[in-house]
Amino acid sequence: MKKYDCIIVGGGMVGASCALTLAQLGLRIALVDKVKPKVFQAEQPFDLRVSAISLASEYLLESINAWNSIKAMRSSPYRRLGVWENEHAYTEFNSNDINQQHLGHIVENRIIQLALWQQIANQSNIELFCPESVINIDQTNNEVEVTLETKKLNAKILIAADGANSQIRQQAGIGTTGWDYQQAAMLINVETQLGQQEITWQQFRPTGPVAMLPLQGNHASLVWYHSKSEINRLSSLTNAQLCNDVNQFFPEKLGGIKQVFAKGAFALTRKHANQYLQGKIILIGDAAHSINPLAGQGVNLGFKDVLALKNVIATAIGTGQCWYSESVLSQYEKLRRNDNLLMMTTMDAFYGVFSHSSSIVKSIRNTGLSLINKSSLIKNKALAYACGI
Ligand SMILES: Cc1cc2nc3c(=O)[nH]c(=O)nc-3n(C[C@H](O)[C@H](O)[C@H](O)COP(=O)(O)OP(=O)(O)OC[C@H]3O[C@@H](n4cnc5c(N)ncnc54)[C@H](O)[C@@H]3O)c2cc1C
Repeated sequence: MKKYDCIIVGGGMVGASCALTLAQLGLRIALVDKVKPKVFQAEQPFDLRVSAISLASEYLLESINAWNSIKAMRSSPYRRLGVWENEHAYTEFNSNDINQQHLGHIVENRIIQLALWQQIANQSNIELFCPESVINIDQTNNEVEVTLETKKLNAKILIAADGANSQIRQQAGIGTTGWDYQQAAMLINVETQLGQQEITWQQFRPTGPVAMLPLQGNHASLVWYHSKSEINRLSSLTNAQLCNDVNQFFPEKLGGIKQVFAKGAFALTRKHANQYLQGKIILIGDAAHSINPLAGQGVNLGFKDVLALKNVIATAIGTGQCWYSESVLSQYEKLRRNDNLLMMTTMDAFYGVFSHSSSIVKSIRNTGLSLINKSSLIKNKALAYACGI
């Protein structure tokens, strides 16, 4: 049986970055994933799954040498972020306000994963098992044994980074608290009439938010929140019909679209694991928390988990403690649970306030947005929080 310091199940954006950060501490890592990401080619159309990567996440990806590979493939920086319901309460955040060159980048999830896997291939202390699936996990004598389809692995800890429907979380018997939202979201990749944009924006409509995330050139990823029945109807349209609907429904700021390339509907769920640690099993990323994607914070929270876990283990190693003891690992949960909960609750409060149809609430929220726009102190604090700095 092969022995490691740490087995990570899930080599997505969060699991793969965790493997690289822990490898920097000299730990021997086994990384398991059931699917290999498709190799990148510049002529490929944009993937539907993209993420708004915050400045804090960019720094983490730089520290594990993945950022340059991402830039060499495809990414789109944005310097401004617009939010509004009524035009008179339009609020815009600008990277100049916090002395930064940009606020973040829109990057396809697969490209982030590929850049991380390129680095993993250069690391002698990370072994990748893919495609592989977990058949069983067993915690014995202070160790974890993982049975894969073709072999058995053994380690001091097991990190679950296998996404929102985490099999490891379920096998460990860790429950979750959460709910399905009343609405669904549709992601639509389009060709825009406007050229390359440096802004990402979100308008709150009575039927739910709509958003534009810039992709390279005259391309964009649109997000359309609506009732589940309307998202079902939109899903049944041809790309040409959907193009028509987008041009009629989306705000003028979009500047119109020429065509729809791809579309996909997503359920909106909130799920928070009741504990992040069970014996030698640790949850990170969406396996621990999945959040309303309203403000594009999901993977950014996952990257914060990665950094917190690395810091806790590094401090333990540096001070001669047993880095895989429960007292050390429980510090990770202490550091992350409240921060994740705060972001989840803030997003829900935002979503709740902007979904309310009462004219009083409507007037209060638009006054609130106008006030934020006028107060540079509040504005810059909100912006720094969203950027993770
Ligand atoms: C519509 C939508 C829009 C979003 N937009 C944003 C955004 O703009 N910004 C943002 O920060 N976040 C966004 N998110 C959230 C973001 O996509 C997730 O937070 C992120 O993908 C979580 O990363 P992860 O690595 O934890 O999990 P995942 O991305 O789910 O990766 C899990 C990995 O584990 C592997 N795996 C799963 N099960 C097993 C198993 N049993 N054995 C082995 N391997 C397994 C999978 O193959 C995969 O590689 C959005 C989410 C949605 C639904």
